[in-house]
Amino acid sequence: MKINSSADYINSLTKCSPIIYYKGKKIEDVTTNPATAVHVRAAAMTYALASDPEYMDLAIATSHLSGRTISRFTHVHQNIEDLIKKVKLLRVLGQKTGTCFQRCVGFDGINATYSVTYEMDKKYGTSYFERFKKWLTYIQDENLMVVGAMTDPKGDRSKGPANQSDPDQYLRIVERLKDGIIIRGAKLHMTGAVNSHEILVMPTTAMDETCKDYAVICAVPVDAPGVTMIFGRQANDSRRDNQEDMDVGKPSFGVVGGEAVIIFEDVFVPWERVFMDGETDFCGDIVYRFAAHHRANYGACKTGLMDVLTGAVCYLTQIQGTANGSHVKDKVTEMIHLSETLYSSSIACSAEGWPTSSGAFMVNTMLANVCKHNVTRFHFEVARLATDLAGGFIATLPGEADLANKEVGPFVKKYFSGVDGIPTEDRIKIGRLIEAMTGGTAMVESMHGAGSPQAQRIMIFREGRLGQKIKLAKTLARISQRDK
Ligand code: SF4
Ligand code: FE
Repeated sequence: MKINSSADYINSLTKCSPIIYYKGKKIEDVTTNPATAVHVRAAAMTYALASDPEYMDLAIATSHLSGRTISRFTHVHQNIEDLIKKVKLLRVLGQKTGTCFQRCVGFDGINATYSVTYEMDKKYGTSYFERFKKWLTYIQDENLMVVGAMTDPKGDRSKGPANQSDPDQYLRIVERLKDGIIIRGAKLHMTGAVNSHEILVMPTTAMDETCKDYAVICAVPVDAPGVTMIFGRQANDSRRDNQEDMDVGKPSFGVVGGEAVIIFEDVFVPWERVFMDGETDFCGDIVYRFAAHHRANYGACKTGLMDVLTGAVCYLTQIQGTANGSHVKDKVTEMIHLSETLYSSSIACSAEGWPTSSGAFMVNTMLANVCKHNVTRFHFEVARLATDLAGGFIATLPGEADLANKEVGPFVKKYFSGVDGIPTEDRIKIGRLIEAMTGGTAMVESMHGAGSPQAQRIMIFREGRLGQKIKLAKTLARISQRDK
């Protein structure tokens, strides 16, 4: 059932039957429910680009496992060029959807698991790598979407996994059977979960020997018995009840990725889908590598979003007659400068990539953390500048129903117009797009997706090579290189 197009992808989702709740009710079909259909369409774009001659070179790759042509989203980076192509692909997808297209989480999980399982086998003589390659070949051949599931609920944050009063606060193995394991727990904030085919479960943090049952990597189909999802609410989501409504702002695609809680209630996983079982000393590596790959993305996908936002603001200034103001040009210049700065760090951490012993390439983790950390500032500044330039009307706009109303519609048309010749509807539409891209959930995602800012600061400090920097300073100051 290889998926060859966006239509195939959408069709494939109707064949899965995951249990998904939203606002207290079951979602029967994610491809048509207004809450989820927008995210399905955004993810579908990752399939569409694979057959678009303009972007094919970025969107497809050759599998090093089978030699067959595959989606880049299922590829293991074989060199620096692969890492850079990924960045370029993500920016294009950000530009085309103006939102999160979700498929990178599984992509990054695949890449982290690949190198870590290889190293586990070298150390322990296990066979996780071979199992993982088999599963990955299946994913590549079928062209499936995988959700990378890392973040555990964590309960009392002052305690580790094994010391919680409720042991399920971190996902764990509750039983080991002859033919597989039983897992229980939950994963939160799972981007793209409701419209993926498979879940790649990974541990959420570094662990010590007391946490053997929590050190687990495995693959689970989204509709495996015992899996239940609860789809999260987003700012202004009820506006989407009518998807064609002008008030939505971005009718085709979501504001953000579409996140869900995934609950695992004693889910059976056969051994051939288990890629870590108790190797606690590798938990830190999987988190570290996954996080670095994912943080490297943010200067790419978010830059694509900022390109759209910059375009939206420029157009709005044109149609309301402010485009030629020198302060307007200056602010737009700053928006571009910030976006391109973020893109530079995504390119830089890829250009400084390095081969792991498995052959899979990793990004430069210091630069990837700096990249994501800057997103938590620059994206907000770009949004602030966009809001500044757009003016207050994006916060007070009457709705589409008012525009359509016989009594007040003519007033909305008259008093929300801009320069002559431009329909008021166009000004409203672009205003709504800016509203959707600068408010609520969209900005929270930029702050906390791929790890909150403090997580990057910890990594930046840890990787800062301060000892070496002290040496440089001592040499120049002619201080002897003692221990202290
Ligand atoms: Fe991909 Fe960006 Fe969405 Fe993360 S936030 S899944 S990197 S599009
Ligand atoms: Fe994200």
